[in-house]
Amino acid sequence: MVNAAAAAPKVEWRSSIGPCPICGSTLYRRLGRRGGEAHRANLGAATWVVRCRDCHGVYCHPTLEPIGNPYSQHSAEEYFAGQEALSQMEAGGQLIAKAETLLMRPGARKLLELGCGRGDYLAGAAKQGWSVFGVEMTPEFASVAARKGVQVEVSSVETSTLLQRENEFDVIYLAAILEHVYRPIECLKQVHRALVPGGVVLIDVPNECSLRTRLGNLYMRARGRDWAVNLAPTFPPFHVVGFCPVSLRRALSLAGLDEVELNVVKWRDMLPTRSGFWGGVERLGSAGVTGVAGMIGDGDGIACWARKPHLSVV
Ligand SMILES: [Zn+2]
Repeated sequence: MVNAAAAAPKVEWRSSIGPCPICGSTLYRRLGRRGGEAHRANLGAATWVVRCRDCHGVYCHPTLEPIGNPYSQHSAEEYFAGQEALSQMEAGGQLIAKAETLLMRPGARKLLELGCGRGDYLAGAAKQGWSVFGVEMTPEFASVAARKGVQVEVSSVETSTLLQRENEFDVIYLAAILEHVYRPIECLKQVHRALVPGGVVLIDVPNECSLRTRLGNLYMRARGRDWAVNLAPTFPPFHVVGFCPVSLRRALSLAGLDEVELNVVKWRDMLPTRSGFWGGVERLGSAGVTGVAGMIGDGDGIACWARKPHLSVV
């Protein structure tokens, strides 16, 4: 993980009250407080995490948006610690192999990744002969990607000119990016516009309805805390909107994208660990949850392929 404790106080947060960023409903249920005094390391600023009663999306109430780029305080090596470049490149190749089975266009060869980080996935796809493009808001990450031959636009997803192109890309990859975006439906509508008709998008997001998060919130209650374990709106990894299969399907529908396949998948364990008695309890609990989740088909992530229909209006 990143060293956020020293960096977090430098960021200021703009607070606003808004409806569900997925479906627009104002009906919600509080899951708990998150950040600041509601974090055992006092990371970030405190806000409430809520679940939409309509679409099941998870968001913050109030929303806290950074003034500036909070990611820029972390080096690429720091932020991506634990992610092996080589295995990411192999995964990029596998992504392309899967995409080619889903695309109904022979000769499709143009891939855009939003939030491409160091560009390892794209470098893997380029080895398969694809033209690869990335959007990355942190210049240090983008320069690492550019050194690997990726055409990178240094921009946020919201201001990307690559994403404003129409009918351009055969495949768009949102690798753990949608949970970072404050207006996810607007982002998915842009993805829809930028895809060629019949083009596909792969969306990886954490599963905010996983057994681990549900038990984590119960664990907080059992310890007498009104804290939630969902999202990380004001500290790394800065997750501001949370999805489950229900809310992700709603988001696809609102953006005019057709679900091709949606799977709950095992993800890397993002839970922080600590020493001492409670640290031991938490490690044992986490390992137990991983075992049970595997047996019942639950997981901490969602991997979803969706397609832009050949004839569609959004
Ligand atoms: Zn909603």
